[in-house]
Amino acid sequence: MFPNIISNMKTIDFLNFSGKKALIRVDFNVPLDDNFNITDDNRLQGALPTIEKILKDGGSIILMSHLGRPKDGPTDKYSLKHVVKHLSTLTNTEVQFADDCIGAQAIEKAAALKPGEILLLENLRFYKEEEKGDEAFAEKLSKLGDVYVNDAFGTAHRAHASTAVIAKFFPDAKYFGYLMAAEVANAEKILNNPDRPFTAIMGGAKVSDKILLIEKLLDKIDNLIIGGGMAYTFAKAQGGEIGTSLLEADRMELCLELLEKAKAKGVNLILPLDTVIADKFDNAASKNNVDSGKIPSDWMGLDIGPKSVELFSKTIKESKTLLWNGPMGVFEMENFEQGTRAVAEAVVEATKNGAFSLIGGGDSAAAVTKFGFTDDVSYVSTGGGALLEYMEGKVLPGVAAINS
Ligand code: AMP
Repeated sequence: MFPNIISNMKTIDFLNFSGKKALIRVDFNVPLDDNFNITDDNRLQGALPTIEKILKDGGSIILMSHLGRPKDGPTDKYSLKHVVKHLSTLTNTEVQFADDCIGAQAIEKAAALKPGEILLLENLRFYKEEEKGDEAFAEKLSKLGDVYVNDAFGTAHRAHASTAVIAKFFPDAKYFGYLMAAEVANAEKILNNPDRPFTAIMGGAKVSDKILLIEKLLDKIDNLIIGGGMAYTFAKAQGGEIGTSLLEADRMELCLELLEKAKAKGVNLILPLDTVIADKFDNAASKNNVDSGKIPSDWMGLDIGPKSVELFSKTIKESKTLLWNGPMGVFEMENFEQGTRAVAEAVVEATKNGAFSLIGGGDSAAAVTKFGFTDDVSYVSTGGGALLEYMEGKVLPGVAAINS
């Protein structure tokens, strides 16, 4: 799954970690249920190849991460202690824990680490300095290890203390972990070397979140499928009736421009033919199917309909490269998951027939996980915002900090 050396990236393959203490920024921002059980461990799994290589070399590891969005310092709900048990099982190592990411305990435990041992630090975002990119805070963290490794693709688009600023304290000892390398390699493969036909599937709530990516992709793709909440702004812009469906009224002009641009660039832009409507935003709502642009005034579209499923699936199955970002409907509700599930099934079938399929992080990754297809697609990204920004052509601070 993880190619070891990406030609122009300085990965951990460039160093033997024997006797070294590796300070690794990981993205362990995993979802937890009310009893603090991890409901999706994709991000923990993603860090394993890097951890295994360093331990195998004879190094020791200090892991640092954020979890959630704590507002006012330490909060039990956001403590990384909740991942220690599962991480110990996954790594087959008794993971130690420091109840602060800086300070005496972290220093002592890091100093005492022996080859083969792993220490996890408490949530970095218990300090406001982390997100502010505070240099003094980054310097304190840097003292804990001999080598800095960034394997946190999910936060690579943020210039935080532990993701970017810290790298300056390791001018000759900073490396990309395998997850970062794999994420970048897969994004590059899609952007630079796609087999054709190349189809992008865009969904989710808002056009505004995806607009930069869509514009960038128009130069590269053959087909653009648009579903999810964002499709209703297109329908309205084309003169359709969308009832109380999601609408970004200030983006209607933009939707018409996109339709024109796609036409000019020879991209086949495919919108839903029909939609599943509901009389309220509720799994138990009354349902009906109507053609796109024909939604009664007090109903809302919550999924694509069967004709759209057929049309989208046909295009997907004929594709050789697929990029999927955003669900086709409110897949979190069982009664409105059908469109997203059908698209996922078509992506799986295309992959079986040799297509390369990249699932953008966030909700599309959650959908693929929910349907149990994680191993049946080519790659599920761990980065939502980071992947979008990378594909939009932005330089990610977490990547730049290692490259500079
Ligand atoms: P995004 O983060 O922009 O990819 O949006 C994902 C969210 O969009 C998911 O939580 C979906 O439930 C939601 N979504 C998708 N389609 C619709 C729709 N037709 N109406 C309301 N929400 C939607």
